[in-house]
Amino acid sequence: MASQENTQELRNLILVLGDQLCRNVSSLDGADRDQDIILMAEVSEEAGYVRHHKKKIAFLFSAMRHFARELEEDGWKVRYTKLDDPENSGSLAGEIERALDGQRFSRVVITEPGEYRVKSALDAWAEASGAVLEMRQDSRFLCSHERFQSWAEGRKQLRMEYFYREMRRETGLLMQGDQPEGGKWNFDQENRKPAKGDLCLPHPLETRPDAITEEVLDLVEARFGSHFGSLRPFWFAVTREGALQALEDFAEKALSCFGDYQDAMLEGERFLYHSVLSQYMNSGLLEPMEVCRRVERAYYEGDAPLNAAEGFIRQVIGWREYVRGIYWLNMPGYTEQNYFGASRPLPEFYWNGETGMACLAAAITQTRDEAYAHHIQRLMVTGNFAMLAGVDPHEVHEWYLAVYADAYEWVEAPNVIGMSQFADGGLLGSKPYAASGNYINKMSNHCAGCSYDVKRKTGEKACPFNSLYWDFLVRNAGKLRGNPRLRQVYRTWDRMSAERQNAYLEAAREVLERHLKE
Ligand SMILES: Cc1cc2nc3c(=O)[nH]c(=O)nc-3n(C[C@H](O)[C@H](O)[C@H](O)COP(=O)(O)OP(=O)(O)OC[C@H]3O[C@@H](n4cnc5c(N)ncnc54)[C@H](O)[C@@H]3O)c2cc1C
Ligand code: SF4
Repeated sequence: MASQENTQELRNLILVLGDQLCRNVSSLDGADRDQDIILMAEVSEEAGYVRHHKKKIAFLFSAMRHFARELEEDGWKVRYTKLDDPENSGSLAGEIERALDGQRFSRVVITEPGEYRVKSALDAWAEASGAVLEMRQDSRFLCSHERFQSWAEGRKQLRMEYFYREMRRETGLLMQGDQPEGGKWNFDQENRKPAKGDLCLPHPLETRPDAITEEVLDLVEARFGSHFGSLRPFWFAVTREGALQALEDFAEKALSCFGDYQDAMLEGERFLYHSVLSQYMNSGLLEPMEVCRRVERAYYEGDAPLNAAEGFIRQVIGWREYVRGIYWLNMPGYTEQNYFGASRPLPEFYWNGETGMACLAAAITQTRDEAYAHHIQRLMVTGNFAMLAGVDPHEVHEWYLAVYADAYEWVEAPNVIGMSQFADGGLLGSKPYAASGNYINKMSNHCAGCSYDVKRKTGEKACPFNSLYWDFLVRNAGKLRGNPRLRQVYRTWDRMSAERQNAYLEAAREVLERHLKE
């Protein structure tokens, strides 16, 4: 890798990716400010492999520029390529090649990329170029690929709950010796309260864009103006300091109600008591363990009840780690899975929110405006509708990957392909998250203002979720009837008169005709 031009001996070229904006990232372990060079690059290959939400691109580019500046202020040598740099090659491999050209490096060091696609491209580049590429484990996660693999090995079924208990024991979070705090591992039963409209709801902390962010916003408008989503107002934090303030704000104002209203939805309320911290954790601005420690502290100081603290910690050291394990265990190929053979196109209204279904309109409109929707909106509204309607899961996957500020394939794909579409046939979850309008009505107030009637099962005014629910179950009975968790549901169907059954199926046909064209 050395050339004749420059005789100065450099040690490592350290590539820091846009979702590794963390001073503790393993690629910087043992790095030397005097000898090593940190490479960061905004490349069109990454910004454009799906048509990401404008806010997501702006968030990452601005956070990268701030991180690079902080490193430089701290004495590091940083080689930073902006997207509009005329020399920009457009790809990560191309930027490594440019950095290596004429320089003497003994190796390229990187923390393993979160996405299989990026890892494969870098491995392929190293093999083709003959360069020494040292890929280190991503120590921001609790569970390594090997660890997850050995946990999964020999188990008939993988279930998050058992994995989560191991993570609790390992971290000691909310543990009293070897026993869980409060005598139970999981307080989910207490976390299903519907929210009331008169709650005094907090809003996530807003950060005013500085000059760096403004420059990025202009760049994104110029280069990605046709992508989905509103760019302004832009209020995400783009530095570690800002993200820490957002964490503090959440712990003080919202955490105490996080558990109770975790599954609730309210018309006009986009965040409820959710943390809106996933984009900070997934990009490296916050470390998952420090977030969990802060939440645990709130519990021990009496600022949050146990069902809130445990519920939150379970999402992070349980679900977040578990889905990552599932992703790496099943790649490549996981994103192509299609257990039900679903093939309908994604309805157009997923891109413009123009639908009379109030729950879907709310989830999609806020996704467009904020690059954010909370878990139940993603799972039980947009995800549920797509699965019931038989939309091709790969199209659904590409939509989720594009539209959320926190979307990276390692976390998005298992949530979409596995949890929300059941396209992996039950690898991640034990049954499909399929629900009729009744569930949405119980957990939200959307139905009150909807142009459809949640109580009606058939007819033009009937809530579309109602007939689609049965149509989905009947369509896929061959694959689902044997599922013990669905036995009761199929019994209900079997007890219906043939006339009623036909009315449901006919109504579903009409709904699909109408709404897939919307
Ligand atoms: C269809 C679908 C797609 C999703 N796509 C993504 C995605 O692209 N990126 C992403 O980070 N999360 C994704 N999730 C998980 C979850 O919806 C988001 O993490 C959460 O909504 C982020 O908002 P928050 O920070 O306010 O979370 P909170 O409700 O405050 O939860 C706290 C934290 O727990 C973690 N978490 C919660 N649930 C999950 C989960 N199921 N998987 C992984 N981590 C979880 C997140 O880090 C989150 O910040 C998806 C879920 C579904 C059902
Ligand atoms: S009636 Fe149906 S479509 Fe309308 S908000 Fe309720 S669940 Fe959604």
